[in-house]
Amino acid sequence: MSDPDCLFCKIVAGDIPADKVGETEHTVAFRDINPQAPTHVLVIPKVHQPDIGSLAEAEPEAAVALLREARRVADDEGTGSYRLVFNTGADAFQTVFHCHGHVLSGRSLTWPPG
Ligand code: 5GP
Ligand code: ZN
Repeated sequence: MSDPDCLFCKIVAGDIPADKVGETEHTVAFRDINPQAPTHVLVIPKVHQPDIGSLAEAEPEAAVALLREARRVADDEGTGSYRLVFNTGADAFQTVFHCHGHVLSGRSLTWPPG
């Protein structure tokens, strides 16, 4: 359920501080420490799963809760127009292996991503 060596599990537990913008039964949302847009919030499940696919397999209710919370964050903290990014795997630049959706909003975003 949680990994004692995981940075985001420590944020869920409150052992490491974070600038939280919301918490639900299944999720915690907090501002990214290195924002890439005026609104850059990470939405994570409370349960430790390495990525969104594993979360969907193991805890589908938490995966849906994460998607709903991402929309709420985009509405309340951003413009409602947003990109939801799940970097998955080292080659996709995943650096923290606790599932997280990046909610990016508040500026025009380009496509394709790099
Ligand atoms: P990834 O590269 O795995 O998709 O995204 C990890 C994100 O976590 C990065 O955008 C990084 O800035 C953010 N991050 C890493 N460590 C911390 C931290 O201690 N606190 C917060 N709020 N964000 C962090
Ligand atoms: Zn974790």
